Amino acid sequence: MIIATGTASGKSLAYLVPAVAEIFSGGTVLYLTPTKALAADQLRALRKLRLTQVRAATYDGDTPPEERRWVRQNANYVLTNPDMLHRSILPRHSSWSSFWRRLRLVVVDECHGYRGVFGSHVAQILRRLRRVAARYGSSPVFLLASATASDPAAAGMRLTGLEMAEVTADASPRGSTTFALWEPPLTDLRGESGAPVRRTATAEAADLLADLVIEDVRTLAFVRSRRAAEAVALTARRTLEEVEALLDAGPAPYGEYAEGVPEEVGGVGAGGALGDVGAFGGAAGGAVGGAFEAAGGTVDATGRTFETAGRTSDAAGRAFDEIGGRERSSSGAAEASQAAETEEAGELGGGRRTDRGGRLADRVAAYRAGYLADDRRVLEKALRSGELTGLATTNALELGVDVSGLDAVLIAGWPGTRASLWQQAGRAGRAGQDALAVLIARDDPLDTYIVHHPDAVFGRPVEAIVLDPDNPYVLAPHLCAAAAEIPLTEDDLKTFGPAARGVLDDLVDRGLLRRRPTGWFWTSRDHAADLADIRGSGGAPVQVVEASTGRLLGTVDEPSAHTMVHLGAVYLHQSETFVVDALDLDAGVALVTAAEPDYATFARDVTDIRVMESLRSRPFGPGTLHFGSVEVTRQVVSYLKRRTQTGEVLGEEPLDLPPRTLCTRAVWWTLPTPALADLIKPGHAVDLGGAAHAAEHASIGLLPLFATCDRWDIGGVSTELHPDTGLLTVFVYDGHDGGAGFAERGYARAADWLTATREAIASCECERGCPSCIQSPKCGNGNEPLDKAGAIRLLDILLGA
Ligand SMILES: [Zn+2]
Ligand SMILES: [Zn+2]
Repeated sequence: MIIATGTASGKSLAYLVPAVAEIFSGGTVLYLTPTKALAADQLRALRKLRLTQVRAATYDGDTPPEERRWVRQNANYVLTNPDMLHRSILPRHSSWSSFWRRLRLVVVDECHGYRGVFGSHVAQILRRLRRVAARYGSSPVFLLASATASDPAAAGMRLTGLEMAEVTADASPRGSTTFALWEPPLTDLRGESGAPVRRTATAEAADLLADLVIEDVRTLAFVRSRRAAEAVALTARRTLEEVEALLDAGPAPYGEYAEGVPEEVGGVGAGGALGDVGAFGGAAGGAVGGAFEAAGGTVDATGRTFETAGRTSDAAGRAFDEIGGRERSSSGAAEASQAAETEEAGELGGGRRTDRGGRLADRVAAYRAGYLADDRRVLEKALRSGELTGLATTNALELGVDVSGLDAVLIAGWPGTRASLWQQAGRAGRAGQDALAVLIARDDPLDTYIVHHPDAVFGRPVEAIVLDPDNPYVLAPHLCAAAAEIPLTEDDLKTFGPAARGVLDDLVDRGLLRRRPTGWFWTSRDHAADLADIRGSGGAPVQVVEASTGRLLGTVDEPSAHTMVHLGAVYLHQSETFVVDALDLDAGVALVTAAEPDYATFARDVTDIRVMESLRSRPFGPGTLHFGSVEVTRQVVSYLKRRTQTGEVLGEEPLDLPPRTLCTRAVWWTLPTPALADLIKPGHAVDLGGAAHAAEHASIGLLPLFATCDRWDIGGVSTELHPDTGLLTVFVYDGHDGGAGFAERGYARAADWLTATREAIASCECERGCPSCIQSPKCGNGNEPLDKAGAIRLLDILLGA
């Protein structure tokens, strides 16, 4: 059974009741979550029930050895994660025999988190679990809890290999959430190829976060990257310091700080976020004015957030608004300077500060997965206790601890999936209070499409939880692990799917498994489970170490190290910026030194793609659509320094890093030359390479709307003439060995996907292309060549328009 409903709709009760009932009748229950934090949280909830028959315990990496024994022998409700199941519980199944014998129910919570390569690994772990349980005579019911998704029963079946019944109706009561879709305004700045630059989502988020903290509104700001989490916290803190410094100065005569303030404010560049502070500093023509302006202006801006909204409601009763950018720099500044002259504004500043005690800036912090466990726990506690009012976080918190009593959630950039969006928005306003959620669009095609098509968010879900249990790279190590648990027999093959036989033959050839008349055996003394790296980071993580002190700042997985901590990269840690002095991939260490450059760095790479095999194909308009295997070779060759505020390129530095080869799956389309005749007519000629390149960028941007991936999980290559097809070809590939199911989903939903791609390009108001439509932040070619009008015409031909 899979229950796929919104956050806080009562899914926990839906599995707790049957779980407890099974325990009352002598059974045991296994509860799985993607994170340790969530398991700890569930344990707390379970203990609150004070049911003496329920002997619940977590079993994870933090459980001390002496306690583990007790859990194995006595617990009847075990909370754990897939990693622990994979590395410890399944390989040592015999020490859990009494638990297996009575196993009635397996709860798979937050199962939408099991997607892509990680999801494919979990799918195999659950098959191993079913086989081990069967050995002890158990056939447990699987009860899955998921966020809303398209076709949850199919996803549940892929994950478990079992037929699923689905529950999707949600009748739970909830407070109302005001939902704003927020598109930052275009600025006067010019970026790559003279494209107009939108104010960044992180800049808007930092401003809103500072505004909300001043208002004592408990807020989480979700951002997409570690870098952005640091930048938002850093910028919000600096804004609050500015505000406080001016408030501390008291009611000084007008003009006293006229020189200092705007300049100082202007200097806050690191996050790139304070672009328009100058605007409301400047309009006042005086620094004290500026100070109260900051207070008054934010009240106003915040007020407007709640009020402007002409609400519309969708069927689910959720209100949403579409707001086109903030007007703070114009009318906001004017209203603010008026507010500055009133006593009220003065009292607001002074009074609030004393209530709070402590510095405003200290009430904001950043939180992300790369931090060491101790740092994270301190931050979690501070947020729970209210010591912190504002926290900028990556989705590390998304599935983490239960942070209740939040009032507002800012989401800087589409979080990749509707499930994540609702999960994040659902953090605000629990216990039936009203709440505010703001989705701030980034400068990218998917975000642009979404703020202009609210139906994509509030209508029926289109994205599916995508995973590919048949990926041979994933399947192989789990077949070894399964054979080590209990030798594999012919009967087991159906459990592991149609790809299992071929993979087993290969494992025997490679000497990893032995074939005997009774089945396949693991004969090595090594732990078979060590073969699978289920979080898919690929290799040992690189440690980021401060050169002068030897302090370990955090870790970066090996593939990301090439782009995040290469020589010269700007690296952010807890609101401090560092520059990488050296990256030693063999030693797995990056040495960094504290610095405050006014630029950010972006790695560039060259990519080659070869078609290995087309597995499926069909006619598509006048062209052909394919799904199949490809080999992609990527090498990070240089990095760009870009001014944080504008994205203006300051320079490019070469890098010497080894190429990485990826054998993966791709979806690609080709168009025959005659179909392109219109596009190459003299007078109407388009740059075919630029058109294909632009269509590729935008289609990478839009695929996450249909498959639960983000644009960083997939890559693309486009060419006017590909040597393997002999035709104009656009590829979109999975960025993981063996594929993750994203390209396959693109193949299945190609018509909708490519139509949305065309729409996203056409609905962008820019003239010749910008990051909101066809420019890509990870383009290995520096976004050259691109032809926006050509891309629309090319897609029209492909779509048969
Ligand atoms: Zn554009
Ligand atoms: Zn490109």
